[in-house]
Amino acid sequence: MNEKPSISNLAAIDAAHHIHPFSDMAELNARGTRIIERAEGLFITDSTGKKYLDAFAGLWCVNVGYGRKSIAEAAYRQMQELPYYNAFFGTTTPPATLLAQKVASHAGPNLNRVFFTNSGSEATDTWFRMARVYWKALGKPQKTQVIARKNGYHGSTVAGASLGGMKLMHEQGNLPIDGIHHINQPYWYAEGEHLSPAEFGLKIARELETKIDELGEDRVAAFVAEPIQGAGGVIIPPDTYWPEIARICKARNILLVVDEVICGFGRLGEWFGHQHYGVEPDLAPIAKGLSSGYLPIGGVLVSDRVAEVMMNEVGEFYHGFTYSGHPVAAAAALENIRIIEEEGLVERVRDDIGPYFAAAWKSLESHEVVGEAQSVGLMGGLQLAADKATRRRYEKPDDIGTLVRNHCLENGLILRATGDRMLASPALTISRSEVDQVIETLSKALDHLREKGLG
Ligand code: PMP
Repeated sequence: MNEKPSISNLAAIDAAHHIHPFSDMAELNARGTRIIERAEGLFITDSTGKKYLDAFAGLWCVNVGYGRKSIAEAAYRQMQELPYYNAFFGTTTPPATLLAQKVASHAGPNLNRVFFTNSGSEATDTWFRMARVYWKALGKPQKTQVIARKNGYHGSTVAGASLGGMKLMHEQGNLPIDGIHHINQPYWYAEGEHLSPAEFGLKIARELETKIDELGEDRVAAFVAEPIQGAGGVIIPPDTYWPEIARICKARNILLVVDEVICGFGRLGEWFGHQHYGVEPDLAPIAKGLSSGYLPIGGVLVSDRVAEVMMNEVGEFYHGFTYSGHPVAAAAALENIRIIEEEGLVERVRDDIGPYFAAAWKSLESHEVVGEAQSVGLMGGLQLAADKATRRRYEKPDDIGTLVRNHCLENGLILRATGDRMLASPALTISRSEVDQVIETLSKALDHLREKGLG
């Protein structure tokens, strides 16, 4: 075996050779990257030996926590038996088939089939193509336009970055591609003005109807949204929002695509986010919690409505990935889901740790710099505010979020900041005392922000 390089060597090698995702590399190389070496339960350890409570589950994905030996063993067994075979040549592998069945058993009653990918972004590209193919097969080839939302996130591929509503991504590379339109997000705190959250939820949902009218119903293929916008800042929609969206999609005969990449696999206290909000998607991309991030795997849940057309009218769908349904990733995902079932993690989020987390998170609203602290299940969004009474926001939202996030980091807590919102998304196995630790450390970071008096 090669000798392990020292920390400073590894950092230098990283700076010389490794381009990181979503990173300003000049800035990162000057600062030096943190090297994460080990993890167990909720805690990760870096190469200096410092331990952090990871209240973000890696990147919204390690739902069963770190260090699950049975997942490693399932992958090892599968790798010895059959490390790879594809699903192209009229073939499958036992884990891919069993995983499709298992995932379907937990989704809504009309979602019975899965198309596998390696990531959420590939899942986005897959449903995007499928939606257009579906309408074409039904004799409506002009139904190609897709409506998405500002500040949504659906991945980094060309279709993913186009469907996402991130301006900074669009500016890099002439996006969005043709045929994609964005309506406003249900972000009441920032954009609700004088309306109540319930009124605002309805108003924003009805922008979908207006956009459909503008484009022409016979040209619109689908609408896509995350149940709760994740990367956009854990934007939790008012309760009036989703039922109205579902009503409009049905009335206007456009496909409803619910992006379950973050919300799927228990995060909201149901197996899927669409179940929490009581809506039935026609297509639903999944990833992350499907394998708890132990190996890369994603997919698209396909409703009976779409599957029947794909099977009976389309013939061959010219789409697929070398690693669609990769047997080792599928074996890891199956074991991950077995753990979620056996430990009752979805119910635990709904009935036990979710409510405990909700009360603790909400208590932060008494802090002077917090405008609003909302959560569903184990997904929390905390709005920083310069003036609570008027919902006035800080002038430099990014700096404020970074300040709070870095204070948490120095004190051994990993949370994410998106602008002036703090985001939490811990493993579904988080204990009550670990929740207390999150709140205590975050509170101190909020004190630090108040003391800085940056308002
Ligand atoms: N959809 C949503 C809602 C996501 O949050 C993400 C990733 N954060 C993606 C899609 C893309 O997934 P991936 O990074 O696995 O390509």
